[in-house]
Amino acid sequence: MSQNKINIQNGSCPVYKKCGGCQLQNLTYEEQLRFKQNKVVKLLKSFGRVEPIIGMEQPYHYRNKVQAAFFTDRNGKIRSGVYQSGTHRIVSVDDCLIEDKTADKIIVAVRKLLPSFHLTTYNEDTHKGFLRHVLVKRGFATGEVMLVLVTGTPVFPSKNNFVKAIRHQFPEITTIVQNVNPYNTNLVLGDKQTVLYGKGYIEDVLCGCRFRISPKSFYQINPVQTETLYGKAIAFAGLKGNETVLDAYCGIGTIGIIAAKQGAGQVIGVELNGDAVRDAIQNAKANKLSNIRFFKGDAGDFMRDVAEERETIDVVLMDPPRAGSSEVFLRSLIKLSPKTVVYVSCNPETLARDLAFLQKHSRYTVKKMQPVDMFPHTQHVETVVKLSL
Ligand code: SAH
Repeated sequence: MSQNKINIQNGSCPVYKKCGGCQLQNLTYEEQLRFKQNKVVKLLKSFGRVEPIIGMEQPYHYRNKVQAAFFTDRNGKIRSGVYQSGTHRIVSVDDCLIEDKTADKIIVAVRKLLPSFHLTTYNEDTHKGFLRHVLVKRGFATGEVMLVLVTGTPVFPSKNNFVKAIRHQFPEITTIVQNVNPYNTNLVLGDKQTVLYGKGYIEDVLCGCRFRISPKSFYQINPVQTETLYGKAIAFAGLKGNETVLDAYCGIGTIGIIAAKQGAGQVIGVELNGDAVRDAIQNAKANKLSNIRFFKGDAGDFMRDVAEERETIDVVLMDPPRAGSSEVFLRSLIKLSPKTVVYVSCNPETLARDLAFLQKHSRYTVKKMQPVDMFPHTQHVETVVKLSL
């Protein structure tokens, strides 16, 4: 039984209003780009000229990570879909304009398999039942696919046969992980994980480097635009060789590893998520780099320590989450005074706030600002900024 279908020909999605994930779908792609450009210009024009936004040639099915929540409706039918924006209500979705097509198909297949294995969906009120969420990540360059089954309980009856059945339908699945999340939480993933099949992670290639991605590690969701974004960030860093580069909020080490490969003398990465740091260390090895080290911790605390030790850092690449950077981080950055700062931001509002702080309290000036459309059809926009002393 299929749920809601989309019609790409007329660019419309039947759940556009209900879902709320694609806020700009009522605009043509050109209009969306203009909207985002205007938004960034409005917020950042006091810091200088904003380059024209770089859009996508094919702005559909770009998401390499797809997540679906599972539940059983009043008629006893199992459904899957996404949370309505800003709520905890689930909107049934089978295929989505921006999600990877294979990932969507796998999610539907999992749903259809459940009844024949007598597997139920988890009920958040009674805390009974089995499947809560399904997460699929696909490496666009490698074709590797990870399937994560998030369950409310650790007991997984006939798991070997289930794994066999889904792999039979999708031989491209290279790893399957069971993640147990029994908590009363909005977070999708719990703490405990068991690898049911394969390596427990997938790999992907960006800018000529290979990266391992674990279920819980952050990885940019639009790999096509990520190459453009990272290309700009590395160009803004202006590496001539032998610089010491600090990659703050480094995730699995992508930007730092690419910088190391492209001639940085030494790279230091810092990241809060332990799984991501483990991936980053492996990624440095896999890319045969010995001039790069990773630390687990809060980027602000780390910067404060580095600044207090009076270490010399030539370039700071920073890529904080939507909340932006912290004051401790920015104050330490000023103290550390690297020649160049490259700020990669997924939220122009907090970017504007942080740039205003730097403008007020330091001698940094903005040299370049480049928006990149990482999230077509949504209101989100990424911007990379170069600052120099
Ligand atoms: N640069 C990486 C990751 C960017 S996403 C990439 O391009 O893939 C932001 C990252 O910041 C996430 O990995 C998140 O886990 C991490 N993070 C969030 N808060 C942090 C903090 N206070 N200190 C260090 N890292 C943090």
